[in-house]
Amino acid sequence: MDWETVIGIETHAQLSTVSKIFSGAATQFGAPPNVQACAVDIALPGVLPVLNKGAVERAIRFGLAVGGPEVISRRSVFARKNYFYPDLPKGYQISQFELPIVTGGAISILTQDGEKTVRLTRAHLEEDAGKSLHEDFHGMSGIDLNRAGTPLLEIVSEPDMRSAEEAVAYAKALHALVRWIGICDGNMQEGSFRCDANVSVRRPGAALGTRREIKNLNSFRFLQQAIEYEVRWQIETLQDGGSIQQATVLFDPDTGQTRMMRTKEDAHDYRYFPDPDLLPLVVSDETIEQIRCELPELPQAKRERYIRDHQLSAYDAGVLTSSREVADYYEDLVKALGGGHKLAASWITGEFFGALKRAGLEISQSPIGSRQLAGLLQQILDAVISGKTAKDVFDAMWNGEGEAAAIIEAKGLKQISDAGELERVIDGVLAANQKSVEEYRAGKEKAFNALVGQAMKATRGKGNPAQINEILKKKLAR
Ligand code: ADP
Ligand code: MG
Repeated sequence: MDWETVIGIETHAQLSTVSKIFSGAATQFGAPPNVQACAVDIALPGVLPVLNKGAVERAIRFGLAVGGPEVISRRSVFARKNYFYPDLPKGYQISQFELPIVTGGAISILTQDGEKTVRLTRAHLEEDAGKSLHEDFHGMSGIDLNRAGTPLLEIVSEPDMRSAEEAVAYAKALHALVRWIGICDGNMQEGSFRCDANVSVRRPGAALGTRREIKNLNSFRFLQQAIEYEVRWQIETLQDGGSIQQATVLFDPDTGQTRMMRTKEDAHDYRYFPDPDLLPLVVSDETIEQIRCELPELPQAKRERYIRDHQLSAYDAGVLTSSREVADYYEDLVKALGGGHKLAASWITGEFFGALKRAGLEISQSPIGSRQLAGLLQQILDAVISGKTAKDVFDAMWNGEGEAAAIIEAKGLKQISDAGELERVIDGVLAANQKSVEEYRAGKEKAFNALVGQAMKATRGKGNPAQINEILKKKLAR
């Protein structure tokens, strides 16, 4: 009998504000320990938190992107989540509990079976804790409070994912979205975007199984590996007659296994209550409308527009909207070309991405800008060069040899489109390849390609392939 996997994901996205959520201390990554921890962050007596407007605006931007104005609470409340840990000097974390800033919304993902919607439960604002440092200390731990008070948006999904692949597709879509709308830098190595995966298994159609939560996954590969291991482990445990206990587990990338951190029995009772130091957060319709006006066109809207108006495939449209940089490059390119959407899309997703990948470069570091690439594609559209020759020109451009037109001129790559000249060449090819001609006339289609190949060879690759095809067909039909 089959098992079905059920996954819900909680994500912490660090909001890209310059200062912290309740203090003026800097949030920049990598500073020496405790130089970016002010009196509020280290919880000196008598200090009071002051809410950072930039964090609120970013949360609203997120709400608008996943659900529109309806999902944004006009009134939300900050609550104290009480627990003891050395990196939490206040003894509580300021979070949102009963009334989060965003309730509902959805993320759309592409799966093998097409588009799928993952519903969001909520997204709330909270502060990060500090860090315990174990490495440089013998028999002791150090405490770095630079991260204490860094603004986070915790985004909680419904248990809507059914495989590790879907979970990764969701995490990637969410990652792309928070970067797209400019609320989080998405740097996973620095911990700016991290996921907890809640995993359970069940018989198809049965009620939800008991879940285990895999904490703090900071790469898509670890997310995939951790879920795959966890699912196998849960199925084996159940098939052996065991049962699953609700628990929090950690993934060890070295062993590829998950191991128990704590069970439900030691789960904290956080004694949430509204923080008396902070007023309820009231957001007006005008504020929401103003932020909505400033939002860029969202990836999904762009994707749909590319499919509808540019006749791109769902796949190409998806790749071209994987980040704003890629979409901007594509749009600049087709603008400079004045059309040629499909040609532009296939060159970006093919040759251009291939070259970037081989060189290990980001699109912003590309030696070929969108205008230069437009210059090359224009030569194809004008039938000056074939698509095949264009690849050589592209390589030359990549190596800094100049603009497409200049390279074509200097290397004499212009294709031969003169009908008279091509006919002369083809007559020669036909005379020299009587065997292929006979085979073709006897019904062997392949022989035609051989003749095209010979004609291309005779023009040293410069014959216009479409014209060669046409002339050959005409002559062979006689
Ligand atoms: P907590 O706050 O204790 O982590 P929540 O009820 O908020 O618990 O759920 C956290 C996450 O767990 C959500 O993303 C939710 O979709 C997911 N989840 C809940 N039940 C299950 C289940 N049976 N299997 C998989 N995921 C689940
Ligand atoms: Mg949880």
